[in-house]
Amino acid sequence: MCYAITESEASVTIENMTDGSSHRPTPRNLIVVTGVCGFIGSHVAEALLGRDGMAVLGVDRRTPGDDSRTAAILAELQSRPGFDLVLADVGDAAVAAELRKASAVVHLAAPTSIAESWGSGFADQAASLLSSHRLLSACGEAQVPRLVVASSAHVYGPVDGAVGEDVPPSPSSPYGVVKLATERLAAAHAQRPGSTMSTVALRFFTAFGPRVNPDMVVARMFHSARTGERMPLYGDGTAPHTWTHVDDLVEAVLRAIDLPLAPGQAEVVNVAGGDEASLVQVGELVERIVGTPVVWEPADQRPGDSNGTVADLAHAERVLNYVPKVTLLQGLESLWQDLRHQYEESPSAPR
Ligand code: NAD
Repeated sequence: MCYAITESEASVTIENMTDGSSHRPTPRNLIVVTGVCGFIGSHVAEALLGRDGMAVLGVDRRTPGDDSRTAAILAELQSRPGFDLVLADVGDAAVAAELRKASAVVHLAAPTSIAESWGSGFADQAASLLSSHRLLSACGEAQVPRLVVASSAHVYGPVDGAVGEDVPPSPSSPYGVVKLATERLAAAHAQRPGSTMSTVALRFFTAFGPRVNPDMVVARMFHSARTGERMPLYGDGTAPHTWTHVDDLVEAVLRAIDLPLAPGQAEVVNVAGGDEASLVQVGELVERIVGTPVVWEPADQRPGDSNGTVADLAHAERVLNYVPKVTLLQGLESLWQDLRHQYEESPSAPR
């Protein structure tokens, strides 16, 4: 299948054509996944390893000695044939040296705390952007055909209603600014004269699922319902959000790796679940699943907290043929199964 390209402000649109101008990633069989010790990266790596003949090179700066969660993720991945690992910053020469055989780089590694990005965490955000630039330069030199980068709904800033990729980004936190810079940097590298690379920036909406970061709001709700511990509710908690189960998110990443694009093309796509709900409504579902209430402690809204993030997925369906499959309730129930299993294995675990 071949494609013609029309450029818009936020993205490049693809339409079916027959002029032979499309490019799939070349049949090298190695995919590099950065941030592989993290929530999303570990799921993406597992899904790729389930594909026939696929090899995955994971990159992360966390080591198994850092915490038991990282140790467990790496032990599982390293038990799988086809997995290899570089423990380094994504900008290090050790990573650049491995890119020649890669058909795609899925760049997920980044500091993810919005609250911290206002303070001391901004140094890490800025360093992460420099590391991303080094990684992207190395991808260009190694002629990696496809780059998929993690962006975020936080690039939009406060928007009423469902937001599509044509809405001009207006991030309201340093985290959101750096996510926007990362996706624009990826596009700039792809569009550099002589580049053989194309990019897809995926704007993830709030994700949850097994192995979610324990500080993430949904994990904290289950913890609160299970233990009776209070958790802060910043603002009134009634703003709507689209919640994304990690299985849907992984499906979008796999589709972005395979998407036919010509060198130089830069695509931007929202990735989200199909259900929207406020924090309070998600809390009510958690309460129903666990059987005991989430105990909220009212708190002021923090700078950069979104007033709601609802995704318009029309572009994702058209470009990636992506339609989310996991409902919010199904996703919460499966997360609860996973968390209960963890509590049974390690009853003293804080979450
Ligand atoms: P995570 O914190 O679980 O994982 C990130 C991983 O990246 C960590 O293992 C960390 O050690 C690693 N890392 C960070 N900087 C690095 C560097 N410079 N070099 C090497 N490794 C580095 O986060 P996650 O939830 O899996 O998020 C993955 C990506 O998706 C991030 O880019 C994040 O901004 C984006 N995102 C996540 C969500 C969500 O709801 N989880 C929503 C929107 C966007």
